[in-house]
Amino acid sequence: MIDIVEPAIRSRMMAAITSRNTKPELIVRKSLHARGFRYRLHDKKLPGKPDIVLPKYRVAIEVRGCFWHRHLCKDFKWPKTRKQFWKEKLETNQRRDIQNRKTLENLGWRVLVVWECAIRSKTPEEISVLMDTVSKWIKNSSPIRDIPS
Ligand SMILES: [Zn+2]
Repeated sequence: MIDIVEPAIRSRMMAAITSRNTKPELIVRKSLHARGFRYRLHDKKLPGKPDIVLPKYRVAIEVRGCFWHRHLCKDFKWPKTRKQFWKEKLETNQRRDIQNRKTLENLGWRVLVVWECAIRSKTPEEISVLMDTVSKWIKNSSPIRDIPS
């Protein structure tokens, strides 16, 4: 297939995909809501504007795309073109994620990362099992932090 979109435009299109309200994020939100949790979204007052914030539990949840946040999983693949551009961009994202998490934790927040690959292509039953674990973690302060880890 011939790529008919210019690189600069392609780059903008891909940048738009990184924006908020992704499908995995919506799935996590819906599922938390169904379990009785109440939350704020993209709280601008907190470092990195975490996707989902549960003030009652002092928990911040990030639902991260495996590509944009460079997850070391089988879903992550380096783009075949503009390698240097992507390397710098994704490494910057990664550094920012680490910094935001540290700052949040220093402010006394517990941070949970739910990776896209833990949600995408999963059955509703699998997602339900995962969200039960997340729910327990929120309430019990168990040490799990990355799903999957
Ligand atoms: Zn992943």
